[in-house]
Amino acid sequence: MTSTVPTAVQHTDAQPPITMFGPDFPYAYDDFLAHPAGLGQIPATEHGTEVAVIGGGLSGIVAAYELMKMGLKPVVYEADQIGGRLRTVGFEGTGTDGLTAEMGAMRFPPSSTALQHYIDLVGLETKAFPNPLAESTPSTVVDLKGESHYATTVDDLPQVYRDVMNAWNACLEEGADFSDMNRALRERDVPKIREIWAKLVEKLDNQTFYGFLCESEAFKSFRHREIFGQVGFGTGGWDTDFPNSILEILRVVYTEADDHHRGIVGGSQQLPLRLWDREPQKIVHWPLGTSLASLHDGRAPKPAVTRLHRTAGNRVTVTDANGDIRTYRTAIFTAQSWMLLSKIECDDSLFPIDHWTAMERTHYMESSKLFVPVDRPFWLDKDEETGRDVMSMTLTDRMTRGTYLLDDGPDKPATICLSYTWCDDSLKWLPLSANERMEVMLKSLGEIYPKVDIRKHIIGNPVTVSWENEPYFMGAFKANLPGHYRYQRRLFTHFMQDDLPTDKRGIFLAGDDISWTAGWAEGAVTTALNAVWGVMHHLGGATDATNPGPGDLYDEIAPVELPED
Ligand SMILES: Cc1cc2nc3c(=O)[nH]c(=O)nc-3n(C[C@H](O)[C@H](O)[C@H](O)COP(=O)(O)OP(=O)(O)OC[C@H]3O[C@@H](n4cnc5c(N)ncnc54)[C@H](O)[C@@H]3O)c2cc1C
Repeated sequence: MTSTVPTAVQHTDAQPPITMFGPDFPYAYDDFLAHPAGLGQIPATEHGTEVAVIGGGLSGIVAAYELMKMGLKPVVYEADQIGGRLRTVGFEGTGTDGLTAEMGAMRFPPSSTALQHYIDLVGLETKAFPNPLAESTPSTVVDLKGESHYATTVDDLPQVYRDVMNAWNACLEEGADFSDMNRALRERDVPKIREIWAKLVEKLDNQTFYGFLCESEAFKSFRHREIFGQVGFGTGGWDTDFPNSILEILRVVYTEADDHHRGIVGGSQQLPLRLWDREPQKIVHWPLGTSLASLHDGRAPKPAVTRLHRTAGNRVTVTDANGDIRTYRTAIFTAQSWMLLSKIECDDSLFPIDHWTAMERTHYMESSKLFVPVDRPFWLDKDEETGRDVMSMTLTDRMTRGTYLLDDGPDKPATICLSYTWCDDSLKWLPLSANERMEVMLKSLGEIYPKVDIRKHIIGNPVTVSWENEPYFMGAFKANLPGHYRYQRRLFTHFMQDDLPTDKRGIFLAGDDISWTAGWAEGAVTTALNAVWGVMHHLGGATDATNPGPGDLYDEIAPVELPED
């Protein structure tokens, strides 16, 4: 459904906007970034010090950019390509020029305000993303158990869908203090957020999303739970998340991460690419005109890291795929944590044992997508009998699950994301080639739209991905299982190292998989900023008193701690 927000707390102009401010770590990253004092300073004696940044996804590039501005010398290592899971690809073939497909992130909530800071900084534009039943989406078809319903708003769907939406709102209200948390997040009322969340974390860490529904009076009906799993909230199709911790779901709904989405015009990968080339106006130590690209001699980042170990003086020594060995006083690791278990040879002494356990326990969702280029947005043609769009954004319980129609205006080539799936639904595609996948998808959609010949509009080969099969990712994004809160807390708080033994300091974890909001680029940005604070602090630097950083305020806003015994 398009909105999870009970009417009582619907956004009005009188209310402050909802942002991804907490609930676990209510720190105002957006204010920190906007402050004229900047993110902090390091002693002049450290200017030019090299810092290894492993991974050139958004988290690594943001971290490197901010370290460069502080006068440090980031050395970025990237195994695949700059952008990581912000991966925008083109199509082969005549007539497909300029068409792109977002294989990873494709839609961004306005509540991602730290991400938005960088989108604005590099001058990228956004436009409304055609989610199910979103205002800008011409039409949506919900196809369940062989029965299709056409809708332009939720009111066009049968009553049972509204009953399900009301059940979800009631369930959130009863089981998760939704309105109070929503208000506290809008008002950035830190004590209130912490009070509500502390109780919920304790109560719900062992609970699955599905168990949470089942315990609610509002969701007594199996049929309602089944429909909810299909159309869910926000972008729909959340039943593949049913086994995950309900805390993960609450983080998404409280912060409206799944609502009001916008896409980046021209593709999201432009963001890290533009940051790579950007010459900041305010920069310490380096001459104006310095960029991450120029610090890497105008070339690409260094290649994949193959070995990480500790050397004398608690240094971090990095070996790359070219066999180059370099030693750093400090490093930031931004790739998915599982890389440290298999693809990179690591010393145990890099991290405390509890952190290793947490990395091993990290649970990733699988995800597959397939896009095809088409000659024009033919879906806007009208059916002669009904006057409806001949094809619509489609949510279904068939193999495709979610189909998205993406156009740049009439009469121009366009793209269709024939299928976007998660978890088991993604694994079903894994052994199939791109063409085999497309054939099954066209068959499914052919059953929903028997009068439409989608194939005749396809002008190039499909492009596809299964993130679980990508050697430098091994999964799409983290999603905690029940009982994982403690692991998550260890990884997120790793940037606070003063209490660690000295021989465990100096390497900082970042990236969306250690954030509280994995699967959202906001988590990549905010954990990068934590790691930047960690590096600055490690090298004897400090923030300006008027702009305290995440580590400075840590004691007041630290994530709830659950007992280990
Ligand atoms: C299918 C999918 C859909 C998504 N949808 C959305 C969305 O709609 N909205 C949203 O906000 N977010 C979305 N996300 C999440 C978003 O893409 C991520 O939060 C963000 O891109 C993660 O950035 P990162 O830098 O933390 O990690 P990554 O992008 O994974 O970057 C890590 C980098 O490390 C590199 N690496 C790995 N191993 C090594 C090595 N040994 N040496 C050197 N480098 C290495 C990798 O190649 C990679 O480039 C989605 C993600 C996926 C996969």
